[in-house]
Amino acid sequence: MDQDLCYCGERAVRGEGLLRNTMSCPACGSEWEITHCWNCGEQIDGRFSSTCRSCSWYLCAKCGAHEPDCTHTIKASLKNAAHYQGTFI
Ligand SMILES: [Zn+2]
Ligand SMILES: [Zn+2]
Ligand SMILES: [Zn+2]
Repeated sequence: MDQDLCYCGERAVRGEGLLRNTMSCPACGSEWEITHCWNCGEQIDGRFSSTCRSCSWYLCAKCGAHEPDCTHTIKASLKNAAHYQGTFI
């Protein structure tokens, strides 16, 4: 999925400064968060990523990483990640 592409089909623009991880669509006003996995560098799109219930970080779709010190199990999220990737490739 293209991080720059909005649901409405228009190109979104990345914010600056504190909003550099925020994409916003000039056409429909939608906003979403874009970040990267600290562990594997995979791009994380806030629209499609689930968050850890314990640390509330986004779960990486590739490796399942979340907050490094979080003790919550990531097994379930890895399963979902495999499904998630299969959906979009
Ligand atoms: Zn839009
Ligand atoms: Zn990762
Ligand atoms: Zn966590």
